[in-house]
Amino acid sequence: MIVTSMADLAVDLAALRHNYRQLRGLCDAGVKFMGVVKADAYGHGLLPVAGALVAEGADYLGVGSLEEGLVLRQAGLALPVLLLLGILPDEAEPTVAAGLEVALFRPDVAQALAAAAGAQGKKAGIHLKVDTGMGRLGLLPEDVLPFLEGLRAFPQLEVLGLTSHLAVADQEDKSYTLRQLGQFEGLLRAARDRGWELPLSHIANSAALWEHKKAHFALVRPGIMLYGSPPAAERRPPVLLQPVMSLATRVLQVKRLPPGCSISYGRTYTTPAECDLAVLPVGYANGYSRLFSNRGEVLIRGRRAPIRGRVCMNLTMVEVSHLEDIREGEPVVLLGQSGNACLTGDDLAGWADTISYEIYLALGNANPRRYLGV
Ligand SMILES: *Cc1c(COP(=O)(O)O)cnc(C)c1O
Repeated sequence: MIVTSMADLAVDLAALRHNYRQLRGLCDAGVKFMGVVKADAYGHGLLPVAGALVAEGADYLGVGSLEEGLVLRQAGLALPVLLLLGILPDEAEPTVAAGLEVALFRPDVAQALAAAAGAQGKKAGIHLKVDTGMGRLGLLPEDVLPFLEGLRAFPQLEVLGLTSHLAVADQEDKSYTLRQLGQFEGLLRAARDRGWELPLSHIANSAALWEHKKAHFALVRPGIMLYGSPPAAERRPPVLLQPVMSLATRVLQVKRLPPGCSISYGRTYTTPAECDLAVLPVGYANGYSRLFSNRGEVLIRGRRAPIRGRVCMNLTMVEVSHLEDIREGEPVVLLGQSGNACLTGDDLAGWADTISYEIYLALGNANPRRYLGV
């Protein structure tokens, strides 16, 4: 990847550690903590984030793919790692060899894992994935007990727990989440009645971690709050989170336009009066969404400057008429703190009708990352 160096993307590991400690403080002492680091740690960088979480005492890591799990092992991280999406049958051998645990919901994968474990003289740790109402991965509730009975044929599999995912844990109305939790508890009870211990059952994402203590079970698995954002922009968590990612640049050109000038492709903005314009060397090639066109803002000297016209591939224009004497080279914050002002992941997400998760991934994946607080 060849990238522009004019966008400065920073990842603050001290803020990540702070967020970890805040979340850990919301859990009882016996509850295990899985840091969710899938999708390259939400765009923050898998290994630096995983290393920081492990150093703080995280018990588990959750990743999206076998590849991510292997990267953790090659870096020498020996703690339990769960492959949240499960695996394909032909991935069983390297999964077992690396001692990675698997979210399981397919009989053919159970068979492949048992065969690989048998051949390697090991056990394969699995978490049985149940769909309690997310409508995504997992066995339907009525299939859980029959599936478990089928696993008795595979003593090479160590069934560590049931796992499920909540669809609306971040919403004010708790009724659907309570129904999912009830469903999950009922299944746990039924399975335990049949002799399955299931010591490591878990369902809590970030939202459930702070809003549903009874969802903690044996382990919590937050993602987004580690990275400093609430799961839903309109609901404030009970702890002070620090943003981990920030994006800055410097003004590339300043110019004064007369009234009646159009700005950028498509001529979607025309200056109503004389306008001081700053051209910034950041665009959608940097993951800075074109949907921010005429909607977003940046911060210069702690004050807001609105985006004028369309965001381009490598350039974005902002109006600085209300700011005194802006010069070329002036620092600009696109995400993060400037003076007393701050632009959050949720601010950027709002301009693009998306969520902070997608903003962090887009920016983090498109720019070289500089680490602070290492
Ligand atoms: C991504 C993910 C999480 C973390 O969710 P957040 O909303 O980021 O806390 C937890 N569990 C599973 C299965 C996930 O896919």
